[in-house]
Amino acid sequence: MQNPIYTIAKIAEILNADSKLVDAEVIIQYLVIDSRSILVPENSVFFALSSHRDGHEFIKDAYARDIRNFVVTKAEYVNQYPDGNFLLVDNVLAALQQLSIYHREQFQLQTIGITGSNGKTIVKEWLYQLLAADFNIVKSPKSYNSQIGVPLSVWQIEADHTLGIFEAGISAANEMQRLAEIIQPGIGILTNIGEAHAEGFSSKKEKLTEKLKLFSGSDLFIYSPEYVTGISTKDLPGKKKFTWSSKQLADLQITAVEPIEGNCYLRAIYQDTEIACMLPFKDKASIENGMICWATLLALGYTPEQADARLEKLSHVSMRLELKNGINQCSIIDDSYSADISSLAIALDFLNQQNQHPKKTVILSELFETGRDDLDLYTEIAELLAQKKVNRLIGIGTHISRYADLFNFETQFFDDTNAFVEAFPGLQFSHETILVKGARRFGFGRISKLLTQKIHDTVLEIDLNAMVGNLQFYRSKIKPGVKIMAMVKAFSYGSGSFEIANLLQFHKVDYLAVAYADEGIALRKAGITLPIMVMSPEESAFEAIIRHRLEPEIYSLEILNSFLNALSDYDFDYPIHIKIDSGMHRLGFDQTEVDALAALLKDSARVKVQSIFSHLVASDAAEHDGFTRQQIDTFKIIAHQLVNVLGYKPLLHIANTSGISRWPEAQMDMVRLGIGLYGFDAALANNRGLQTVMVLKTTVTQVKNLQPGETVGYSRRGIMPNGGKIATVKIGYADGYTRYFGNGVGKMLINGHLVPVIGSICMDMTMLDVTGIDVKPGDEAIVFNQEHTIMQLAKDINTIPYEILTNISQRVKRVYFYE
Ligand SMILES: *Cc1c(COP(=O)(O)O)cnc(C)c1O
Repeated sequence: MQNPIYTIAKIAEILNADSKLVDAEVIIQYLVIDSRSILVPENSVFFALSSHRDGHEFIKDAYARDIRNFVVTKAEYVNQYPDGNFLLVDNVLAALQQLSIYHREQFQLQTIGITGSNGKTIVKEWLYQLLAADFNIVKSPKSYNSQIGVPLSVWQIEADHTLGIFEAGISAANEMQRLAEIIQPGIGILTNIGEAHAEGFSSKKEKLTEKLKLFSGSDLFIYSPEYVTGISTKDLPGKKKFTWSSKQLADLQITAVEPIEGNCYLRAIYQDTEIACMLPFKDKASIENGMICWATLLALGYTPEQADARLEKLSHVSMRLELKNGINQCSIIDDSYSADISSLAIALDFLNQQNQHPKKTVILSELFETGRDDLDLYTEIAELLAQKKVNRLIGIGTHISRYADLFNFETQFFDDTNAFVEAFPGLQFSHETILVKGARRFGFGRISKLLTQKIHDTVLEIDLNAMVGNLQFYRSKIKPGVKIMAMVKAFSYGSGSFEIANLLQFHKVDYLAVAYADEGIALRKAGITLPIMVMSPEESAFEAIIRHRLEPEIYSLEILNSFLNALSDYDFDYPIHIKIDSGMHRLGFDQTEVDALAALLKDSARVKVQSIFSHLVASDAAEHDGFTRQQIDTFKIIAHQLVNVLGYKPLLHIANTSGISRWPEAQMDMVRLGIGLYGFDAALANNRGLQTVMVLKTTVTQVKNLQPGETVGYSRRGIMPNGGKIATVKIGYADGYTRYFGNGVGKMLINGHLVPVIGSICMDMTMLDVTGIDVKPGDEAIVFNQEHTIMQLAKDINTIPYEILTNISQRVKRVYFYE
């Protein structure tokens, strides 16, 4: 069978689109939904999908990156780009889906569809590991399981694939039907259905019924009866069914789960015989996902012996890239979990989002794409690396080495990881961003260890996807056209500097704001080009501010005068921001000074007022709503007074995070988003709708048993009248875990138990009362995460989440995760 070839004219026909084609015969291979990730523009078509922003806004950007094929709904774009091919449709998302359905229908391949609330991606990746020996598999990249992700996944199917494994995720009613049409799974697998994300559905049953629609045309449905309680068997999908359970009668009836060291031994009854398997995991979620895989292998006809042999070799799946600090000022992106082309493209995109170093290096093992010709594969990889402007490749493996000639930039090759490790002392790595990406069997963990600064045992993990989710949450609340200034002061509320700014710049916020000039300078040095407002511009830093094109907040006539003096004769229209005091009484001009300010500004062509703003003191608190309204009115009066004199209109803004949530009428031209990005908003009950961005972890150094009456720590404050067990962990007040947490006030999570602090907090260590709990040195202690929350910590010591976050000291290593 041949791969179908799609000309743009053919696609127009499939979509039944009105089209204006300049070159009807151009061949389309790539579907682009994000103007920032384009591989081969000549063979790509851009879908102007709208979510928080109108996708048509990005046509210009895509065009500038040489895309000439577009699917749009708005006819007015067609004439703006006379050399572009345009397909006009009613709904861009529906068109993308329709095209993928057409593509899917060209192939007869066997497909497995997976849905559920938890474990979809893990089960998909494990089935890939388990079945790769027998099939040429195409699968969803990472967790591409949405209305957009599924069509893109299915678009990857090629003629020589023999099995497709795709996951589908939904968040609202009536979404699954479409995904079912796209995937058309012959085999359906339901994973843990969970209680979470019932939002978007009126009940758990409705959610379940919707999910099961994925399998309505399936021949075989693999599930656990516990997942489908409340639904009668006759309403379950699948011509044939295969059940598994550890609680009731089932085709695979699990009778025992026995942890052994880091593994887990499972026994079951299957076809009236006792069988067993070993899973190389011991945590609850992995065991459950392992059972699903076991059931699937048996349902597919593998013998219990074959299944056992394969399950035993499963390896851990991490979907996340890690960004961390490396040796010699390098940034390291660690992605040593998989090595296929689609995940390489995603990792390269992330590499490209990094601006902190001009030099980009990739350390890459050879890839294993079954059934693919090496020359073809490495040609594509070479093109991909060149497209993504990689400066240096270190290739590891004999296959990739053979194709050295294909890469037209600095390269070095090693036969295996050992050879690289031996040569490492003689290699140069400095001031560059390094992507470490290798197939598991190459053991690239060793390489990332060599390149990474020693990570202390206390780590603040920052989930960049969650932060983007929070940004989009607020985008969905603001009116079209309202700009976003992201507050990255105080080391982005403790979370990082250029790492966060890069992400926000990539996701197109309009402005950044920092507190001090040096924070802004650090961002400029890391390649951040967004406009940056400096809220406390010290006079001594004016020269540096101007040199780095930072934009000062001007809050008094004195500071305005001295800034004007600092500007040279050649400076003209230098951007500044005027702060109005509408009631906070911290910094800013009040009503009485406005005339003098206006006169001075009008006379000076050296500066241009970019924005006029003020700050709300209690936007989250209903009891102060009268005052907030007054602040908004005062601000408007003063701002308009200024605008009238200036004769041009700067941006007006007043709303912070809670202002966005509670004062839609105060969005004006821009909003200033701070704590909401980091997962908190006092205006939302339990921060509903926001995702947890930060997790702080430390480790147990030592465990001791104490006799009755013995005491713990300085001044003998920790008293154990009955004796007990304590664990010492590697975090203290110098890390930002303040002494207020001492003596039972603070708690940490160890092995699933919430345990109290005993005694006073020391500078670098803290002792926990772990009496009766199984704890050993090296175990992880969680200071805060999504269960044991920062909100709780703030409450424990009578402060606010802002202070908990910004207290975490710089010596605590930050590690960034990105999916
Ligand atoms: C910190 C700050 C913000 C952001 O406030 P959040 O409550 O974190 O959203 C907005 N404006 C100014 C002037 C600030 O200093």
